[in-house]
Amino acid sequence: MEILIVGAGQMGSGIAQIAAQHGHTVLLNDRDGTFIERGISAIRKNLDRAVEKSRMTEMERNDALGLIRGTPELSNLQADIAIEAATEHVETKLDLFATLDAVMPPHAILASNTSSISITTLAAATSRPQRVIGMHFMNPVPAMPLVEVIRGLETSQETFAAVRGLAEQLDKTPVEVRDFPGFIANRVLLPMINEAIYALYEGVASAEAIDTVMKLGMNHPMGPLTLADFIGLDTCLAIMQVLHDGFGDSKYRPCPLLVQYVAAGRLGRKSGRGFYEYA
Ligand code: NAD
Repeated sequence: MEILIVGAGQMGSGIAQIAAQHGHTVLLNDRDGTFIERGISAIRKNLDRAVEKSRMTEMERNDALGLIRGTPELSNLQADIAIEAATEHVETKLDLFATLDAVMPPHAILASNTSSISITTLAAATSRPQRVIGMHFMNPVPAMPLVEVIRGLETSQETFAAVRGLAEQLDKTPVEVRDFPGFIANRVLLPMINEAIYALYEGVASAEAIDTVMKLGMNHPMGPLTLADFIGLDTCLAIMQVLHDGFGDSKYRPCPLLVQYVAAGRLGRKSGRGFYEYA
């Protein structure tokens, strides 16, 4: 299958990597060539590490890399499915879905890896809402087995079955979810992260102490503030805003400290600094 991936950041590059590892031809797009290059070099680094650890042969690595091609222009595409993994920003995604509808062949499915934005709204920007669907991978994509498959209001059974089948072929476990703000993963996870940020903001405990409580007390593999840095604080804020707007309930208001960190460009691991500092 030929797969177009739009957005070559942490998620887009992870999806491109596993798609190529499973034999698909991958077209990788981003705003410009620098971002595409950065995505491809992250994939190369991951695959090199897999070879070093003997989880993959050199030939398998070269085959996977050979299937990925950077595509700076979204025009005249022949791919069977587009998976959009651009920044969590509704206007950006609406523009992209209108463009994808114009440049992708009529049979193609348009999927979004959005964490929280309404699939039905994205579908309405296209002339093929029955072929629009959410395909929500978890971070890091190569390691995490779950894919939330989100049906928009008009998503057809045929589209749902095709995307569920693709997730399985990629060795993931698809879970069917309806189109409500934050779906399941982020409706449950993000309020917990936001509450941890409130606890820090109110001076209840240090970041390290909050993370230790959740790791040792709740058996979470990483604390909520470490996880927020890993997800990206801009993405966390965008998801809280979608939950807040979508449910109209003040319990989802983003913590002012989260808003301030994003305004300062402290986006977590990807910018070198969030609740913690990264070399
Ligand atoms: P990121 O910041 O690492 O990457 C986003 C990429 O999108 C950037 O490279 C950016 O240049 C690109 N982009 C922005 N506008 C674009 C456009 N118009 N055309 C093409 N590319 C464009 O973010 P990410 O963490 O990879 O998140 C991407 C998507 O995946 C978001 O919708 C996010 O909510 C979702 N998601 C994130 C996580 C996570 O843990 N980070 C998990 C699941 C889903």
